[in-house]
Amino acid sequence: MMDYSNKIKEIAKKLLEEKTVDSVIGFKKGTLPMMTMPILINEPGKTDDLYWDSFCNMNLANYLPKRAEKVGIFAKGCDSRNIVNHIVENQIKREQLHIIGIPCEGMLDKRKIRALLGEKELKEVSESKTSVTLKGEGFEETIEKKDYLQDNCKTCLHRNPVIYDELLGDLLAENQGPDPYDDVEQIEKIGSGERWDFFQGLIKNCIRCYACRNACPLCYCPTCFVDESDPQWVGKSDDSVDTMTFHLLRAYHCAGRCTDCGACEQACPMDINVRLFTRKLNKDALKLYGWEAGLKLDERPPLDTYRPDDYDEFIR
Ligand code: SF4
Ligand code: SF4
Ligand code: SF4
Repeated sequence: MMDYSNKIKEIAKKLLEEKTVDSVIGFKKGTLPMMTMPILINEPGKTDDLYWDSFCNMNLANYLPKRAEKVGIFAKGCDSRNIVNHIVENQIKREQLHIIGIPCEGMLDKRKIRALLGEKELKEVSESKTSVTLKGEGFEETIEKKDYLQDNCKTCLHRNPVIYDELLGDLLAENQGPDPYDDVEQIEKIGSGERWDFFQGLIKNCIRCYACRNACPLCYCPTCFVDESDPQWVGKSDDSVDTMTFHLLRAYHCAGRCTDCGACEQACPMDINVRLFTRKLNKDALKLYGWEAGLKLDERPPLDTYRPDDYDEFIR
């Protein structure tokens, strides 16, 4: 993954020079260590700003809905599945896209690395294929990447892009385990009262900043239900009922659509594991309908379809 930056610059320059696309969406290096930011480039002379490392964890599919031009986009496995979602949900047309697929060995979790460093101020990060070196005033530490991956990347079953026009690097062997739903099963086993307390505890520090929603490619409604004022579906305060309403409704809006990309969780300033809501529904979609989001261009998510011959009588 490490030599991807130069290849990304080359590919983007060629695509813009040859007018294959009007713009390219990728990542730019951030101003602080471990930070990257999305960037849209529409001039071949500016492609040197593009960058890639193991902290490019935002989901770039978030920047596709309603674009009118032809776009080049760099896509990891999860990004590519959200691109499929967008095509199926008519947010962009397949022919508008030139997808550069990136087989992905997992993204590093900034939160875990910050926890390791404690009060130490990180000034510089460099990485090799398997390790990351962290440097600051009076310290230098090298850690193994595999120990600091995002939790979703540890159990990711689709590291290779599922849709692409060209590929950056060789395809990877897909993971065979561990079971992504072990912890969801543990929560399912506890009683309903205890489960409610668990989820109340999970969101007790939520400040309703909506960074999780804003980072998620699935949340493209022009006005989110939490921002509606007429009618007002959800109160604006930090009342726990309103906060739980936001999380439960958002999770249901993502049911059968979530790719477990982890962008919501990584965006949360309060370190809340919001994926626990969506993963329960991902598990149910798999168990009840044999469905994983974003793998098929010719099928809509299970909660988005209606069959006149449905085997459940109440639906007919
Ligand atoms: S979820 Fe999979 S494809 Fe997405 S960043 Fe993690 S390992 Fe890569
Ligand atoms: S809900 Fe979170 S994990 Fe699921 S697609 Fe949205 S950002 Fe990704
Ligand atoms: S990003 Fe975190 S704090 Fe902000 S609304 Fe989402 S869960 Fe709450």
